[in-house]
Amino acid sequence: MAVREIQTVKSLRLVRGMLTGSVGLVPTMGYLHEGHLSLIQAARRENDSVIVTIFVNPTQFGPNEDLSRYPRDRERDFSLLDEAGVDLVFIPSVDEIYPKGFSSSIDLGPITQRLEGASRPGHFQGVATIVAKLFNLTQPDRAYFGQKDAQQCAVIRKLVSDLNFSLELRFEPTVRESDGLAMSSRNFYLSPEERQAAVAISRALFRAKECYDGGLRQAETLRRMVRDEIGREPLAKLEYASLADALELEEIERQNDGQIEREAVLSLACRFGRTRLIDNIVLG
Ligand code: AMP
Repeated sequence: MAVREIQTVKSLRLVRGMLTGSVGLVPTMGYLHEGHLSLIQAARRENDSVIVTIFVNPTQFGPNEDLSRYPRDRERDFSLLDEAGVDLVFIPSVDEIYPKGFSSSIDLGPITQRLEGASRPGHFQGVATIVAKLFNLTQPDRAYFGQKDAQQCAVIRKLVSDLNFSLELRFEPTVRESDGLAMSSRNFYLSPEERQAAVAISRALFRAKECYDGGLRQAETLRRMVRDEIGREPLAKLEYASLADALELEEIERQNDGQIEREAVLSLACRFGRTRLIDNIVLG
C-alpha cells in the first residue's frame, strides 16, 4: 500500500485518531538517506505503525545558514518511504506549523548553549519547539533519532524529561559511507574534492577511539589528536573538537584532572567550503 501523505494538522489529528496499536515517530528534514532509513527500520520493528515527518524547520536555522538551499527531492523521498513500509508521512507547510501569531519557544537551558548551540545560537530552541509540536501532534509511543546528532539526542532527552512527555526515546547508531563519512543530507553540497577531503572527519574520530580503546584517557590529548588530524587536511576548517560527558555534554576538563571516567562523546564540527558537517563517536 502506498504511503499516505498528510499536509495539515487537522487531517493528521483525524488520521492519528484512527490508528490502533503502537506508533513510532521518525522526524526528518527530508532528502532521505540510509541513516534515515535505519531509523525507520527500527521504528518498523518495534511498532504497529510508523509516522515519518518531513519538515525543513526554519526556526532551527540561523540567518546565514542554508535554509533556502537545503536539498529537497520529495519524489525520491516518497518512493523510499513507500519501499520502507511507512504508514503516514506528515509533510506540512511552514504556515501550517507556525501560523500567524505563533510565538512560543522552548528553552532547555545550558545544554542548548554549548557546542552546536554556541556555533548556532537559537538552533536548539528551534529543535526543541518543533519536536515538542511533533510529539503532541503524532502522540507516538516511541520516537527515533540518530546518534549522529549527539547533542540533539541529549537535548531531546531533556525535553522529554523536563516536560513529561510520555513516550520512549530510541537513539540509533550513525550510518556511514564505506569510507567512514557519516551520511548526511548536507554531503550533497560537497564538491568531489571536498567529498574526498571530508573523510578526514571520521579518520580523526576513529584514530582517537583506537587510542582510547588502547587505554588513553586524557581528554585534552584526545581532543588534540582530532585537531591535528583535521589540521592536516587543507580543505578542512575545524570549528570545534569536543570531548564531553555523554549526558550533559559538558567538556571534560577540570573534573578528574581531565581524565575520562564515564561514557563520553568525542565530537566535532568542520567546514569544507560553505558546507558545515558534524560527527561524533562515543567513548566508553
Ligand atoms: P535530518 O533529516 O538531518 O534532520 O535527520 C533526521 C534524523 O535522522 C535525525 O534524528 C538524525 O540524527 C538522523 N540521522 C541523520 N544522519 C544520520 C546517520 N548518518 N545515521 C543515523 N541517523 C542519522
